[in-house]
Amino acid sequence: MKSIVIKDAKILGGAPADILIRDGLIAEVGHGLSGDETVGARGLVALPGLVDLHTHLREPGREDAETVETGTRAAALGGYTAVHAMANTEPVADTAGVVEQVWRLGQEAGRCDVRPVGAVTVGLGGERLAELGAMADSAARVRVFSDDGRCVSDAVLMRRALEYVKAFDGVVAQHAQEPRLTEGAQMNEGAVSGRLGLTGWPAVAEEAIIARDCLLAAHVGSRLHVCHLSTQGSVEIVRWAKSKGWDVTAEVTPHHLLLTDDLVEDSPVGSYNPIYKVNPPLRTHADVRALREALADGTIDCVATDHAPHPVEDKETEWAAAAMGMIGLETALSVVQEAMVETGLLDWAGVAERMSCAPARIGRLEGHGRPIEAGAPANITLYDPSARAEVDPAGYASKSRNTPYQGRTLPGRVVATFLRGRPTVLDGKLT
Ligand SMILES: [Zn+2]
Repeated sequence: MKSIVIKDAKILGGAPADILIRDGLIAEVGHGLSGDETVGARGLVALPGLVDLHTHLREPGREDAETVETGTRAAALGGYTAVHAMANTEPVADTAGVVEQVWRLGQEAGRCDVRPVGAVTVGLGGERLAELGAMADSAARVRVFSDDGRCVSDAVLMRRALEYVKAFDGVVAQHAQEPRLTEGAQMNEGAVSGRLGLTGWPAVAEEAIIARDCLLAAHVGSRLHVCHLSTQGSVEIVRWAKSKGWDVTAEVTPHHLLLTDDLVEDSPVGSYNPIYKVNPPLRTHADVRALREALADGTIDCVATDHAPHPVEDKETEWAAAAMGMIGLETALSVVQEAMVETGLLDWAGVAERMSCAPARIGRLEGHGRPIEAGAPANITLYDPSARAEVDPAGYASKSRNTPYQGRTLPGRVVATFLRGRPTVLDGKLT
């Protein structure tokens, strides 16, 4: 393997330095370094390769929406070197066999590490625990378990899952949605849903589950991760749980940091546009403010995309029938720049912590989320924060096009991504 030197990169936004990569590792960080090949990085910020805790790759079963191959291409273009693939595939990833299949597909695609998430209950049915131990012991070494898309609403099952994962240092990632309170729910419950006549999705449906699960996690002394926080109240509950010293972590999606429920009523793409239909729903400006502040102060540990590809026919239909979800891998860093960096809430070191180090730690993913220093695996993203471009999903690697940012100008551009020293993206293009 030839050595590569990245010249004049601003590591975590700091002073320019060279990064020498050899044999998949960062060999040296310094000045005046040389290697077999040179990648110029003047003006670019170097971040540890991004890690996503929450990606829907849709394979097996919904290869019309995404495959491991297309999803990991999108991930690399977004600056990611590792993604956690959610379990709500067809069949569900609830056995060692299915998680190993997804893990192997990731290895074959080779552009980004794929760590499967295991289902908590058999078939996401919410009735019987899946074979958590077998998935943890499998070649995929599953550490994150989630019925995402559905809530583990049964308190006894949730308690058992939390107890079970302690044996292998796993974590239960809860999709917090009280099912009875959200029956038929179409969007955030509030003034806008009232005006539009759409069934509301109350904040309390999320907050009640988070409060319960924090108490359960404390009771059994286990680790809880809360998926896609979307309300101010959820932030307050997680802040309270952390103040008690409980082992609770939380994520927020890029879209919940930028978009609000009034887009359903009035947006550049009209009203009732299902591009804005997502689970949990877009909330209010006050919620967005609280989420940004919580991500800045560390109450929310990380950004997770909840990349949720859907084919055109499932999104371009009437609101009530449309699928919930947005793609996000290829815009995540730009959205975080706009919502968090340009508002002065986070610097690049903060972005690195919340988009790489923290998610790697929560997922117990070795080799990712490490500082850019000698001896670490060379998982690196080079990013140009001065770029600005109009979002055009026509050029995206994802198989799906359901981005809410089409036509919107976003800052920043991923210029290069290195996975263990091998460039997966150069000059903004897949290698
Ligand atoms: Zn979810």
